[in-house]
Amino acid sequence: MKPAILVHGGAGRIWKDDHAIACAKGCLKAARLGYELLEEGRTALDAVEAAAVVLEDDPNFNAGKGSALTIDGDIELDAMLMAGTGLRCGGVAALRSFRNPIRVARRVMEESPHVLLSGEGAARFAREQGLEPCPAAELVTERALKRWHKEREAGWPRRPGTIGAVAIDRDGQLAVATSTGGISGKYPGRIGDTPLVGCGTYADASTGAASATGYGEPIARVVMAKHACDRIAMGDSAQLAAESAVAALAAIGGEGGIIVVDREGQLGLAFNSERMSRAAVDADGQESSGFEAIPNVYNR
Ligand code: ASP
Repeated sequence: MKPAILVHGGAGRIWKDDHAIACAKGCLKAARLGYELLEEGRTALDAVEAAAVVLEDDPNFNAGKGSALTIDGDIELDAMLMAGTGLRCGGVAALRSFRNPIRVARRVMEESPHVLLSGEGAARFAREQGLEPCPAAELVTERALKRWHKEREAGWPRRPGTIGAVAIDRDGQLAVATSTGGISGKYPGRIGDTPLVGCGTYADASTGAASATGYGEPIARVVMAKHACDRIAMGDSAQLAAESAVAALAAIGGEGGIIVVDREGQLGLAFNSERMSRAAVDADGQESSGFEAIPNVYNR
């Protein structure tokens, strides 16, 4: 099987061009690293985790460092990782003070009997696993603070942003990772779609893997990532499945996007927001990246 990886850096409305370009570049860096691992024979799970870490560490994205802030100006992070084989998954919600929540999510999947840990329990588990906490202030960037002040004045328009990656490895195994600071001005304790199985994140060996982005509440209500995988089971290509998931989101007034890889290694991407940063290395080794809306990004 030829490996492939597709990464997103969030769906959004009003981005300045220089920021959008930086996000597309960041996505390409993450996709390249993930692809290199896949070429070395590493698993899809390793590739999506590594790609997610690159994006969490990049302050241009709303995940890890650079995350959006709650109404109180705090950082609370959501992340989930899922393997198509055996429907294994692990997630964290409202996690504070860890640079790479996706790494904690992987430990939840592999080292705990649970699917999702939240808040202080998630932080305690991460510490017990030997993962280093960091001062919350290290995750807060000037851009996020500026945005927080501006949006507080504007009555919390609650702009989203997230990062995600889907991949298939040489053995045909599928995996997905999604990580986010959530929507800005969220109520403390709010959990979005990202760490909810089937909503922001889903992978199933018999269909595909999908990672969603956008305003999380509507995404959760349409169980968007599972919707895309179900469409593949019904015979859709990865691209058609992505379009169908976005149509379901749009039907209830939601705005966002989704990336999909199917079990054949075909990629799909769709969004109804103004822009969505992304990058891929496909099964032919072809690289691509961008942020603008283009109809039918991949073959239907
Ligand atoms: N879905 C994320 C959330 O609502 C944000 C995003 O994807 O942009 O938490």
